Amino acid sequence: MPTTPLTHALPSYLDPAHVGPWGIYLQQIDRVTPYLGPLARWVETLKRPKRILVVDVPIELDNGTIAHFEGYRVQHNTSRGPGKGGVRFHQDVTLSEVMALSAWMSIKNAAVNVPYGGAKGGVRVDPRTLSRGELERLTRRYTSEIGILIGPTKDIPAPDVNTNGQIMAWMMDTYSMNVGATATGVVTGKPVDLGGSLGRIEATGRGVFTVGVEAARLTGLPVEGARVAVQGFGNVGGTAGRLFAEAGAKVVAVQDHTGSIHHAGGLDVPAVLAYVKEHGGVGGFPGAEAITADDFWGVPCDILIPAALEGQITEHNAGRIQARMVIEGANGPTTPKADDILADKGVLVLPDVIANAGGVTVSYFEWVQDFSSFFWSEDEINERLVRIMKGAFGAIWQVAQEHKVSLRTATFIVACQRILHAREMRGLYP
Ligand code: NAD
Repeated sequence: MPTTPLTHALPSYLDPAHVGPWGIYLQQIDRVTPYLGPLARWVETLKRPKRILVVDVPIELDNGTIAHFEGYRVQHNTSRGPGKGGVRFHQDVTLSEVMALSAWMSIKNAAVNVPYGGAKGGVRVDPRTLSRGELERLTRRYTSEIGILIGPTKDIPAPDVNTNGQIMAWMMDTYSMNVGATATGVVTGKPVDLGGSLGRIEATGRGVFTVGVEAARLTGLPVEGARVAVQGFGNVGGTAGRLFAEAGAKVVAVQDHTGSIHHAGGLDVPAVLAYVKEHGGVGGFPGAEAITADDFWGVPCDILIPAALEGQITEHNAGRIQARMVIEGANGPTTPKADDILADKGVLVLPDVIANAGGVTVSYFEWVQDFSSFFWSEDEINERLVRIMKGAFGAIWQVAQEHKVSLRTATFIVACQRILHAREMRGLYP
């Protein structure tokens, strides 16, 4: 009777047939494996997260009842350095999502060559339903529960969807209380007064803009006068849109959770940003025509920046996209089927794993500054960020040309080679 080689059996939640974000990540790894040469021998290590921690997070609500939330911290890979990746508070967080996001952090950190592995965390909660006190208790209990994994040289969380500088401050304080010393380097994305870095808030949008300008230069698309459409006008989309407008591009359409607006002549971006600040979204902005959420995808434009959520560009709307270039500000905004449709149409996709790596790059600067207790000027930070993003993107562009592959596959080739080379040099313990 044939026996299954037990050492190769995958736990059920790692099964390639598993749907969801982790399944998409596994397909991406399979796509890159033929390009890894002798390092392919180690590829299995990328298909299994190093550590998965599932925690119960009980808190007392303001009304005296006890609520339990499910929390996660996944360290996907630490071959190149400590785990690094954000913490997401969202009602739809799942283990599959956190695993995939942790793996994409391994790829992203290796792609920009910062000395980190990949990790991610999350709590399955809608934070809008919590009072400030409840949110603080949730954050502190979650931090304590994952305290056995995190630390300035072990695994360094950061903000992600629905988490911010205040939550990082509570995480830093909780960890510090537990170890008995102020440990600013345990999280990044902190307020500047607590060891945060100048330029961190805008870093992801600035990185999106930087790789977009580089790709435009390489493909002969003039940025001046280029028509840009942006989905999500928060931290990432708002900053990228503003920088493109300042460079002479026309932001012709914006969509967020409150509506979609269009102005073929170019929106007044500072006015839209001010309106969003006051009203919470672009819906009802007076200086533009309101369009349907569906029509947003067919707007005539040269550059499209999805900067909201996962799974936004799908087989249902990819065919309508008129842009020559898509810059993925969000994590995982394009489904694999949509990716193929865009490739067939000749649309250049700048993938999340390089396009939105500006945030973690400045997080790395923050961590370095915390260790040395010496802080850099905003100009120094922006100049170093642009240098790293341009260099990393240039190298990925070369690999894409050499192997005639998409920029996504090229980024995975560069990143997987770095991770697996580190793995090979370290060897297996014991
Ligand atoms: P944010 O909360 O500041 O902004 C999110 C934006 O998305 C808002 O404008 C919101 O209205 C919009 N949005 C939400 N639901 C929507 C919907 N159903 N349809 C259309 N728009 C919708 O968040 P952010 O920090 O800008 O992050 C955006 C994306 O970028 C996320 O995928 C995040 O993981 C990714 N990202 C962020 C960073 C960072 O440093 N902030 C770094 C890397 C990746």
